[in-house]
Amino acid sequence: MNRQSSHFVIKGGRLIDRASKRDGVFDIRVRDGKVAAVGANLGSDSATVIDAKDHIVTPGLIDVHLHLMKGLGAFGVDPDIFGIGSGVTTVVDAGSAGHTLLNVFRNYVTDNAKTRVLNYINLSTLGGVSGPGYSILADPRLIDEAKIEQAVEANRDIIVGIKIMATGGALGAQGLKPLERARRLGDSLKLPLLVHIGESWTKDTAPVHVGDVLKYLRAGDIVTHMFTVHPGGLLDGNGKLWPQVRDAKESGVLMDVGHGLHNLNFDVARKVLDQGLHPDGVSTDGHRGNRAGPVYDLPTTMAKLMALGFSLNQVIEMATANAAKLLGRSNELGTLRVGEPADISIMKIEDREWQAVDSQKGTIPAHQAIVPVYCIRGETIYEPMAVERP
Ligand SMILES: [Zn+2]
Repeated sequence: MNRQSSHFVIKGGRLIDRASKRDGVFDIRVRDGKVAAVGANLGSDSATVIDAKDHIVTPGLIDVHLHLMKGLGAFGVDPDIFGIGSGVTTVVDAGSAGHTLLNVFRNYVTDNAKTRVLNYINLSTLGGVSGPGYSILADPRLIDEAKIEQAVEANRDIIVGIKIMATGGALGAQGLKPLERARRLGDSLKLPLLVHIGESWTKDTAPVHVGDVLKYLRAGDIVTHMFTVHPGGLLDGNGKLWPQVRDAKESGVLMDVGHGLHNLNFDVARKVLDQGLHPDGVSTDGHRGNRAGPVYDLPTTMAKLMALGFSLNQVIEMATANAAKLLGRSNELGTLRVGEPADISIMKIEDREWQAVDSQKGTIPAHQAIVPVYCIRGETIYEPMAVERP
């Protein structure tokens, strides 16, 4: 049940706020939808009390890659399912809409969601209309810089970057030319590029080499599907990182998980992590086809990274402060600020043995699970939707 309260205090939880370097038991007072105080033993006279004892309290979790054009094809999922229904306050659509559909997305999805919804606009006018198996960048007329610029300028408040499918399947005979055009567009609009790597959808085309893709990326751009097992990923035939990957990371290119139906492989992840390359963002790549597994939700994806060796603090940092940075929104998201609208997640960490499952049905043992309990936006306290988690 969701509750409204103009004055409540979250009491006794362990607050982990990496951006403000807080990790300890703090109470949080929320009045009129804004964080009024963060401190020890805050009074609660007339306030509603949310008992957070033995719980983790964090700035609102951020899932940086999903497919949220509700009703579109086999993928479009209601943002509130992976959002407030999963204890997550911000979700980001990765290119469902090209410039022609952005206002439809805004009117139909963003404005009706309880979760904050941000967007990467697709470089291709087709966006997610055809589904992922088509050559959406292979006709040069499907990129219209002037129209993308217009759409972006009219929607700067929700646009965080430009999505590009850098696969042989999507690029077709255009080869790397769309990346060249994306680079110029990103520079002129001052927006990062979000680049999908890995031939997860088309098997009959020559894969694009990740080294060729990275030539077009700069600090702040994002590579998603860093742990993909499909051709075009970060590893060479011997399981070593391509040298261009290391160079890119050193130059400030960011790496995102993008779990999805196809692109989290534990063997690949182990090899990548063993060579010292860590994710900047953690994301579900959530859509209608993976909610019931293998993805479930962001907290479960975070717990899978813990099974791969990251600490609770590290995965929380990825899903809060680092995600906000990756979106260019550190000034408004990813940390608790007194005086700003309340945007908070509350979770339970369960110590129990379970098997984490990747996109290829590979398993690794996991010792802790992350279970969302509440998330808060303004005056509303949301309880997650029921989902069968592993
Ligand atoms: Zn995706």
